[in-house]
Amino acid sequence: MHVVVIGAGIVGASTALELVEQGHRVSIMEPEQPGGRHAASYGNSGWISPASIIPMSMPGLWKKVPGYLADPGGPLAIRWPYLASLAPWLARFVAAGSTATKVTRTARILSGLLHDAPTRHQALAEKIGRGDLVTRKGLIYAYPDRHAFEAEAFAWQLRRDNGVAYRELSGAELHELEPDLAPRYTFAAYVEKGGHCVDPGGYVAAIVDHAVTLGAERIQMKATGFRVEKGRLQGVVTESGSVPCDRAVIAAGIHSKTLAAQAGDTVPLQSERGYHVVIPRQILAGAMPVMPGDGKMGNNPTLAGLRIAGQVELASVAAAPDWRRADILLRHAASAYPAISHLSGTNGIDRWMGHRPSIADGLPVIGPSSVSNDIIHAFGHGHIGLATGPVTGKLASDLIAERETTLEISSLSAARFRK
Ligand SMILES: Cc1cc2nc3c(=O)[nH]c(=O)nc-3n(C[C@H](O)[C@H](O)[C@H](O)COP(=O)(O)OP(=O)(O)OC[C@H]3O[C@@H](n4cnc5c(N)ncnc54)[C@H](O)[C@@H]3O)c2cc1C
Repeated sequence: MHVVVIGAGIVGASTALELVEQGHRVSIMEPEQPGGRHAASYGNSGWISPASIIPMSMPGLWKKVPGYLADPGGPLAIRWPYLASLAPWLARFVAAGSTATKVTRTARILSGLLHDAPTRHQALAEKIGRGDLVTRKGLIYAYPDRHAFEAEAFAWQLRRDNGVAYRELSGAELHELEPDLAPRYTFAAYVEKGGHCVDPGGYVAAIVDHAVTLGAERIQMKATGFRVEKGRLQGVVTESGSVPCDRAVIAAGIHSKTLAAQAGDTVPLQSERGYHVVIPRQILAGAMPVMPGDGKMGNNPTLAGLRIAGQVELASVAAAPDWRRADILLRHAASAYPAISHLSGTNGIDRWMGHRPSIADGLPVIGPSSVSNDIIHAFGHGHIGLATGPVTGKLASDLIAERETTLEISSLSAARFRK
């Protein structure tokens, strides 16, 4: 079959490689440079964590939100002029996490996607000849003390219930693993099987290059819609004509919403805007990936230096970045790593903003479209798209081959939003 994969972020790149390996003719439709700064897949924290099964929306969130919003240095910001347009998504988001039963179900489904993510990534990185880009040192969730860890007891219980293995670390053990971390962190949960990517943009570019080496073609165009006749896909429509094909995969990250609508599905997809700063390697490299519980950010050693990524800002896709959100990350980093406590200003610090493609119920959309089974949705991975890109590629290729999918994914179908 001739399959057009729309978008070359981690999801599209993984899907394209999977399909070309299975013998399909693959066209990767992407107007930008794969792995470039425009995409979420470039700027993420690089965490490939089987523990990322906890949705953002949790019971009692609505009680915490006013505190977060009142704190100018907190992890969440809403730009008030956008509140009316955000309200429907926000209402569904809060409802999705309103009870322990709902969150338990979401965590179980996410666990299916995440449990073997580090192994999948390691195999993928090795296959494309870039095993150096994915490391398996484990991931550290650090807390000021055991009490702070126990405040998240429900989340850790859910992780245990879903088979996520972790080891508790004393302050001494923690500082032996990450000597750069401030002594005020005296307790940690260590997910030893976790992985991380030291150059997410370079990784995506290398996956696409590998797919091209195996025969995939690149089409540097933007998809705008689909030509469907009697339920069968005829081609993907672009700004400069139609590309005939048998199947198409929508993997355009935050921009998938309009394409999904063209394929008959209205999906509650919203950007959870996030930021990163990179502290150059000469200043601080970081030994280990660490998520400080008091900062709600991912600190990731990368080839360029220590990347601190986090923040959730709700506004619109088009709104200009608010670099004060990046400054919050930098200030937190300066308090978490004594070696950079003196750091002020932004000289030499790389700053970035991007869009987590987040579905209100905390689950991605993977499955056939309403208009035609020939158009497959593969988007909406929110905070976990790097980790779940390869498994999504596998699932999309199963759907295209009309095979039984590796996982049961009816709960991920866009049908859940159809009235
Ligand atoms: C600050 C931050 C930290 C994060 N940390 C992590 C983490 O540690 N671990 C993790 O697993 N995830 C993390 N994420 C989430 C992760 O980055 C995303 O879920 C993931 O990158 C989404 O990948 P994607 O391929 O769906 O989208 P993208 O990477 O955004 O790629 C979409 C591609 O589609 C292209 N495109 C758009 N429209 C069209 C069109 N019409 N036609 C053709 N092409 C089109 C775009 O140009 C783009 O290249 C983080 C995100 C942020 C913002």
